Amino acid sequence: MEKILYLTHTEADASLGKPALETLSAALELARQLDDAQLTVGLIGEDVQAAANTVAGCGATGFLGVVGADFSDPRYSTDAAAVAALIEAAQATLVVAPGSSRFSRALPGVSQRVGGRIDTHVTGLQVVEGELRIQRWYYRQRMSATLTRSQRPWFLLLAAGAFEPWEGSPGTAVVETVHVETPESRTRVLGTQPASADAHTIRPDADLLFVAGAGWTKKQADGQMHLKEAEQHIRAFVEAAQASLGSSKSLVDQGGEGEPVLPFLTHLHQVGQTGATPRHPKGLSACCHGEEPHVVGWRLIGERRAINLDAGCGWAQGKADVLYVADAFQVIAKVNELLEKS
Ligand SMILES: Cc1cc2nc3c(=O)[nH]c(=O)nc-3n(C[C@H](O)[C@H](O)[C@H](O)COP(=O)(O)OP(=O)(O)OC[C@H]3O[C@@H](n4cnc5c(N)ncnc54)[C@H](O)[C@@H]3O)c2cc1C
Repeated sequence: MEKILYLTHTEADASLGKPALETLSAALELARQLDDAQLTVGLIGEDVQAAANTVAGCGATGFLGVVGADFSDPRYSTDAAAVAALIEAAQATLVVAPGSSRFSRALPGVSQRVGGRIDTHVTGLQVVEGELRIQRWYYRQRMSATLTRSQRPWFLLLAAGAFEPWEGSPGTAVVETVHVETPESRTRVLGTQPASADAHTIRPDADLLFVAGAGWTKKQADGQMHLKEAEQHIRAFVEAAQASLGSSKSLVDQGGEGEPVLPFLTHLHQVGQTGATPRHPKGLSACCHGEEPHVVGWRLIGERRAINLDAGCGWAQGKADVLYVADAFQVIAKVNELLEKS
């Protein structure tokens, strides 16, 4: 019989994040498919009671917690000790956890410690004739693989956005505290700093991805470049729509070539073969040609739309669901005006 440990950590406000709830629904579905599997919830944080209460009605057989100020911040030594203790307490054979940066750092080491195996970026779980099979992508989402393992415990770090978040009634959970001796550590967490101030425009949970292409910095019909205007339109749209901002490679590369740039775009925003492959329900591209090395980064975007002056651009070749053949400066200005009124 498989014993599933659904493992998660609390966020800074003691709640559970969306990826944690997505992982819970995946773990519950897995338990359902593996007929006689047991599912235990394992929580790590300064105080996990509120988080446990939000998922009290999930049907887990028990709730375990490693709690205390030492376990509030991400830190390899304390996280690894907490996870190892939870696995032992739950006698877990399968550990299902969100692929947060915190767990992506700590869990591979724990899997070595307890003689297990780990798979990361998992996007699918299915049970075929009693055997668990997982799906994940390789080579920047170009090849999808299905695999299984006999080694236990088997750790599965789930990709964000691949499962529907769990929705259910809160209640009062009885959390059994698992005592962990705080390991000696020289690491003190003073705070967090994003890679760049503008990384705040990268919002993995946003419903919409807005991609800016190099056309925003090109000479327009009047023979002039309109960088300031482009910046205002893009910033206003991304803020009003709470969209995540992406970029083509050409646009972010311009800085390195000494050409005029939009200063709030960095390589972190780049979408494509040599950039990111974000997951959003919808995507809107403006002033981007839609060449294959860029569009390959849109594989996991649900509905795709593009605005381009060129009716023969790459998006028109079956890569977008809707192509608006129009001037993006005018379209986005109008959309921003409507958003302001709404
Ligand atoms: C190995 C390799 C890896 C690569 N990896 C990536 C990657 O990860 N990501 C990536 O993006 N690219 C990547 N590229 C580059 C890619 O092939 C393209 O060169 C790049 O995506 C082009 O960027 P763009 O569409 O923004 O610019 P352009 O090709 O210059 O297109 C600009 C577009 O803007 C339109 N336009 C201009 N003004 C307006 C206006 N007012 N309104 C509407 N439309 C307008 C034009 O019609 C044009 O289609 C890679 C290339 C290689 C060889």
